[in-house]
Amino acid sequence: MKESKLKAKPEQTDWKKKLTPEQYHILREKGTEKPFSGKLLYNIENGTYVCAACGTELFSSETKFDAGCGWPSFSDVIKDRVVLQEDHSFGMKRTEVICKKCGGHLGHLFDDGPQPTGLRYCINSVSLGFKKKR
Ligand code: FE
Repeated sequence: MKESKLKAKPEQTDWKKKLTPEQYHILREKGTEKPFSGKLLYNIENGTYVCAACGTELFSSETKFDAGCGWPSFSDVIKDRVVLQEDHSFGMKRTEVICKKCGGHLGHLFDDGPQPTGLRYCINSVSLGFKKKR
């Protein structure tokens, strides 16, 4: 009895109930929103960007920059909040950015960002929520 309690249960969240159809498509089916369509693309408020599915804090507004690519872009991520994974879909070699807590697809990571990191986390606005700094 004791042993079975210790075993981690598989992910049982009903994402279809929790997310909008658009959020489900991007976060759970690795979709991509249309460029320049995201609500948070031009958000310049100070605060923290969180995972739209599980609420984990992912990016600080201090690392957000305008990459001109049509998706919210960040030069850095809050430590230990995402998992990076090789993605070979659509005949491209890219690095997928995934929420470490819920496994939700966030976007992709490129190496053409501004210094000092040189990184560009290209993230779907649909995958994000925003908490304004008080
Ligand atoms: Fe998440």
